[in-house]
Amino acid sequence: MYETLYLRAASLDEALAALREHDEARPLSGGMTLIPTLKQRLAAPSHLVDLTRIDALRGVSVEGDVLRVGALTKHAEVAASPVVAAAIPALSQLASVIADPQVRNRGTMGGSVANNDPAADYPSAVLGLGAQVLTSHRRIAADDFFVDTFETALEPGEIVTGFEYPIPLRAAYAKFRQPASGYAVVGVFVAQFDDALRVAVTGAGASVFRWFDAERALAADLSEAALADVEVDPSTLPEDANGSAAYRAHLIETYTRRSLQALLAQPLRRRA
Ligand SMILES: Cc1cc2nc3c(=O)[nH]c(=O)nc-3n(C[C@H](O)[C@H](O)[C@H](O)COP(=O)(O)OP(=O)(O)OC[C@H]3O[C@@H](n4cnc5c(N)ncnc54)[C@H](O)[C@@H]3O)c2cc1C
Repeated sequence: MYETLYLRAASLDEALAALREHDEARPLSGGMTLIPTLKQRLAAPSHLVDLTRIDALRGVSVEGDVLRVGALTKHAEVAASPVVAAAIPALSQLASVIADPQVRNRGTMGGSVANNDPAADYPSAVLGLGAQVLTSHRRIAADDFFVDTFETALEPGEIVTGFEYPIPLRAAYAKFRQPASGYAVVGVFVAQFDDALRVAVTGAGASVFRWFDAERALAADLSEAALADVEVDPSTLPEDANGSAAYRAHLIETYTRRSLQALLAQPLRRRA
């Protein structure tokens, strides 16, 4: 028998103090992953530190060529935000295909990215856009943030406060949904910048990853034809109830092509 105490933090400082004071405490955002985890007895934190009343962790804004999203911003808010839609429509579209309306109205970007489920959607946008993850202690480049399955560069007691997304010339996301949960069996985010082309894949590894061979091919020739000569090596991919490694390799190739088609169909964003 164990007990978990609930604390509602009124400010970031209060939340950080609670996490410092109790080694086994965990932050709580939407609870869409953490609460089921507790129910299944897969975690037994001493305290849940509820972040949801910390208004400073909410909201979206654009400054220059950067879109800022607060960690507590819910998936449904990202999907419906005209600011996000104007800056990075692919991010709105991605948010709109996460899970179901119930999960989208509770789950948050910060909770999803901190959790780093290998089949979650947001990590592909964070990595594909080369975002900065802002925390209570520092900023972490996306390339350094995602470490392994459910593992990130976050230290104990560190809270994700928000994200800075460089606004691309254009970007697109395409995923093959697990029909029951909505999670990505494979999802591919492609983003084009003045000086870079990034391809991030979720659902097909221990954690989200960049497909560098596709990036190199598309940097040389931004066309569907350029993908004809690049293949994914299935020996590096996982096998599970959702598909064999060979099937996942095929999905990565297919959904990279679909994502690229959607990107190429868009006009290039005009710089201010
Ligand atoms: C039925 C179902 C279907 C789903 N389908 C999808 C899907 O299709 N695609 C998808 O991407 N996701 C899916 N999810 C997951 C969903 O998007 C969750 O919202 C997300 O995984 C966790 O976000 P949360 O805000 O609920 O975090 P919580 O559950 O509150 O927390 C998750 C973890 O992150 C930590 N944490 C929370 N906030 C912070 C923070 N600010 N800083 C540091 N650590 C923090 C918590 O301590 C916990 O370890 C699904 C979930 C369910 C229940």
